[in-house]
Amino acid sequence: MSGQPLVVARNVSKSFGHVEVLKGIDLEVQRGQVVCLLGPSGSGKTTFLRCINQLETYDGGRIRVDGDLVGLEERGGRLHRLPDKRIAAQRREIGMVFQRFNLFPHMTALENVVEAPCQVLREPRAQAVARARALLERVGLADRAGNYPAQLSGGQQQRVAIARALAMRPKLMLFDEPTSALDPELVGEVLAVMKELAADGTTMIVVTHEVAFAREVADEVVFMDGGVVVERGAPAEVIGAPKHERTRTFLARMR
Ligand code: ADP
Repeated sequence: MSGQPLVVARNVSKSFGHVEVLKGIDLEVQRGQVVCLLGPSGSGKTTFLRCINQLETYDGGRIRVDGDLVGLEERGGRLHRLPDKRIAAQRREIGMVFQRFNLFPHMTALENVVEAPCQVLREPRAQAVARARALLERVGLADRAGNYPAQLSGGQQQRVAIARALAMRPKLMLFDEPTSALDPELVGEVLAVMKELAADGTTMIVVTHEVAFAREVADEVVFMDGGVVVERGAPAEVIGAPKHERTRTFLARMR
């Protein structure tokens, strides 16, 4: 399977009530690649990300991660929703980092990172603790392991959230505007961690308004508007020389 893209989405559609917010999205992400989704607020970026890890169901099209149909199985020539247990198993393989960090407030940074490997993967505690310490070191927080979320800055909390997601050894990391809730001076430290993950070969899909980050780190930039992909390509093309008026207008507003 290693030659296949890790993520393949074809013609994905999704409505909330009568409003169609995804109108046939296609996406491929190769292993080790970083894809950044850019676009104005309300264009469907977050919804698409949430469909990939099944925080939302999609109405039409197909999403495959590592060859497996996400949330669905084909039986007797028809698609059926997977049983919850199998959905949970698929979700475990995808890490997600949200705009709000959602750490457990009553647990230290270390405990936040240890929790899922112990409870869900049944890793021996000593092993999970050793890995959690290594992950906290990787996100630059080795000295904060014993702190509670309330004792950490927003940037530090978000870095713990990244370590917590990595602790599940995900095949794919999804980032949903990971820096947009942060004070401006804390954005850089989170982007720096994400940049290192990318350099280490982590497969990532990142919804972001950080155009400079996308330009520097993305292998591909996908510009969405109104539930469709307007334009996609290398960052130098989409950000450096956008072909579509909508992309140009959006980028001009970001400056
Ligand atoms: P983006 O991430 O590009 O800002 P979203 O995916 O968050 O866009 O939203 C796309 C559209 O879907 C918006 O119009 C939003 O109001 C709508 N939407 C998102 N989630 C829901 C929901 N749970 N129920 C109803 N409408 C929703």
